[in-house]
Amino acid sequence: MTTLDTPSLTEEAFAEQARAFLDATLPRRQVEQFVWGEGSDDVSLFPERTPEQQRAELDAARSWAQTAFDAGFGWITGPVHLGGRGLPRSYQRLYQSAARDYRIPSQSAFGIGLGMVAPTILAHGTDEVQKAYLAAMYRGDIVGCQLFSEPAAGSDLASLQTRAVRDGDEWIVNGQKVWTSGAQFSDIGEIICRTDPTLPKHRGLTGFVVDMHAPGVEVRPLRQMTGGASFNEVFFTDVRIPDSHRLGAVNGGWTVALTTLMNERAAIGGGGGGTGPSVTHRLIELVRAQGRAGDPLIRQQLAQVVVNERVASYTNLRSMATLAAGQLPGPELSLGKLSLTANMVRSYELASAVLGPELVADSGRWGTYAWSQFLLGVPGMRVAGGSDEVMRNIIGERVLGLPKEPSAPR
Ligand SMILES: Cc1cc2nc3c(=O)[nH]c(=O)nc-3n(C[C@H](O)[C@H](O)[C@H](O)COP(=O)(O)OP(=O)(O)OC[C@H]3O[C@@H](n4cnc5c(N)ncnc54)[C@H](O)[C@@H]3O)c2cc1C
Repeated sequence: MTTLDTPSLTEEAFAEQARAFLDATLPRRQVEQFVWGEGSDDVSLFPERTPEQQRAELDAARSWAQTAFDAGFGWITGPVHLGGRGLPRSYQRLYQSAARDYRIPSQSAFGIGLGMVAPTILAHGTDEVQKAYLAAMYRGDIVGCQLFSEPAAGSDLASLQTRAVRDGDEWIVNGQKVWTSGAQFSDIGEIICRTDPTLPKHRGLTGFVVDMHAPGVEVRPLRQMTGGASFNEVFFTDVRIPDSHRLGAVNGGWTVALTTLMNERAAIGGGGGGTGPSVTHRLIELVRAQGRAGDPLIRQQLAQVVVNERVASYTNLRSMATLAAGQLPGPELSLGKLSLTANMVRSYELASAVLGPELVADSGRWGTYAWSQFLLGVPGMRVAGGSDEVMRNIIGERVLGLPKEPSAPR
């Protein structure tokens, strides 16, 4: 662990250390002046990378994560006995705010592992699993994925059928998962399996950490309509998982899954803050470039996008503040996610209104056809992490107090 640790480290001293570390290791981010027609016109929601590009991105992400971890900035809030720095969340926020000014290589390869799997391991994993994986995940040595969805279990996750059967100190897993983002370069996965088919569907599930390199695990890429292949099908044939890798109680997997899903919604709805000009900013410039800035109907649509973006960002700030205070946010996570995707729809409708055929036929003009990638990515965003309809159900029941949706029999 780092030599920077002291039990009495003040926030000011910590912030100074963080700045000194960042200054010594990274170039500062230049304030980007967005000029129409210059630089990249990419507005895609899903990165379209070859396996080689994915590997190179992972290597760069890993190299930075290792440097930050070894300097004491990789897992600031983590318990000291597990390799973290044991500092309060306010220190984490200080570091994140300082780091925004520097050109950190994209860490998106670790998004699911650190955003969803690691907090679940911390909440429900055995000492052995926590020691084996958490520091390694925060250091970027290993990557985690989320093995929940199945061909017949997505929104209704509790219907999943992948079986885990106990065999002494191990469990034997058979079944299939689908839409597993990043499985192709993951080392471990959080998997929810059915362990007792005689119990009601939410009660017969158990969570595990599975070694993605174990015999019997097969990852097959799925190509999405945007052209890339960021998801996979994952097949399990007689895969053995030690009981020490169980998350939570036997048949207590629903609680484990909820921990992960809560973190997932926070990660998606919360947004990253992003780098470079926002989609909305680009949209404004697109309207200008297409000579439609004086069109009252277009102006009205644009205003809707801007206003809704602002409202969604405030809702997300509320969720993030609740999370930062160590509490679980309520239905505002669903509101945040739904408003984000609703605004994506408004954005592509506006782009399509001002672009017309240029949205679907590449004229070679900068900043036009690139919007087709945005449009094609929106349906995935509307489904990932709980679909729009499921978010509406949650808001209907938990915010508006409408009657509960009748549950289907198992
Ligand atoms: C970009 C992306 C990344 C993903 N990454 C992962 C991953 O890493 N790991 C993982 O496990 N899964 C992942 N998924 C899968 C995702 O969790 C599921 O797609 C999602 O839960 C929906 O399940 P489904 O696709 O089976 O659709 P279904 O649940 O079959 O839904 C089909 C349609 O029915 C609607 N519907 C379903 N139930 C209701 C209801 N009760 N009321 C009203 N309408 C309803 C839905 O809104 C949807 O329109 C990912 C998906 C996407 C798009």
